[in-house]
Amino acid sequence: MSGIYVHIPYCRQKCIYCDFYSTASRQSRTAYIAALEQEAIQRKDYLLTPVRTMYFGGGTPTVLTRTEMEEIYNRLSSVFDLSNCMETTIEANPENLSGEYLSFLRRLGFNRLSIGIQSFNPDDLIALNRRHSCQQATESVRMAKEQGFDNISIDLMFNLPGMNMEKWKGNLDRALQLDVEHISCYSLTREEETMLDKMIKAGKTSLPNDEECIRQFNAADEILTKNGYRHYEISNYCKVGKESIHNSSYWQQIDYIGLGASAHSFNKTSRQWNPSSIEQYINNINTGAETEKEILSDKEKYNEYIMLSLRTEKGIDITHIKKHFPQFLSHYEKQLEKVSDMMSDRWILSNRIAVELML
Ligand code: SF4
Repeated sequence: MSGIYVHIPYCRQKCIYCDFYSTASRQSRTAYIAALEQEAIQRKDYLLTPVRTMYFGGGTPTVLTRTEMEEIYNRLSSVFDLSNCMETTIEANPENLSGEYLSFLRRLGFNRLSIGIQSFNPDDLIALNRRHSCQQATESVRMAKEQGFDNISIDLMFNLPGMNMEKWKGNLDRALQLDVEHISCYSLTREEETMLDKMIKAGKTSLPNDEECIRQFNAADEILTKNGYRHYEISNYCKVGKESIHNSSYWQQIDYIGLGASAHSFNKTSRQWNPSSIEQYINNINTGAETEKEILSDKEKYNEYIMLSLRTEKGIDITHIKKHFPQFLSHYEKQLEKVSDMMSDRWILSNRIAVELML
């Protein structure tokens, strides 16, 4: 089984923490949509197994008009066989969602919605340069349910500037009231060259310290699991049977093709990626230029397996190592002894454990 990722690199404005590739200018949209179709045709044989998931991410896919969205969806459906596709997700921001638009998305074929709420505190939303209000956030979930979405995920962020435990717990309570199937909780991280990075360097804002960040992570773990959500990946919680199948594919190293500017693809032996520039992407597609590619060595495959598995509830499977990486088994077993005392805090220490176990 395999997956398709489609990158829609348009956002109305840039959030201060974001380092995903996106632009506020929408002039290139017609040419971009045509390039997406061309890329799908050029690379349709990349996937050797039936498509199980499709994911529209960004950027903000829901800034596209219905006509544009329909065009992309229909073009991809005519290139790929989607008859075995179980999960079709679209990322959305609350301010773009209306009952009509949601009903359209549902009819088009999306059966999972991932809404970027981030916080229910107005001050946080302003500080992050988000465009939506708290009311729009809760209303978007209500409307999505009304339009038949029964697999809704929301994103929340902790470790925000000025965020204390009381505010964070307040956000978790509001999230629980929405009774959605899936909640992703991310720590705000400082990525280089983002507006947040510049503000911190200029002394205009600061993030809570590491101890507070860990306390907020642990609070989410405690509160959400107590309320029926399973902590199945370091940043993800779900109700029974509502894991993100698409995102789980990344952690399980299942093949996927990424279409669009900055999108990555993986087929177990190599990684490929498109340029993080709409103009260059369109030019590459129109001239048939090769995508950039990296062939993975056994050592790289082993390291990726360790790193990705430690992000998940299931962890590392020794039978997988014995089967796929027998040459590294003795290294793994030797290193495992060194990290055994860290295992009770595996979520928090996963990076440190991974470094010990990797080659
Ligand atoms: S809406 Fe999403 S992709 Fe766009 S700038 Fe904000 S975080 Fe980045």
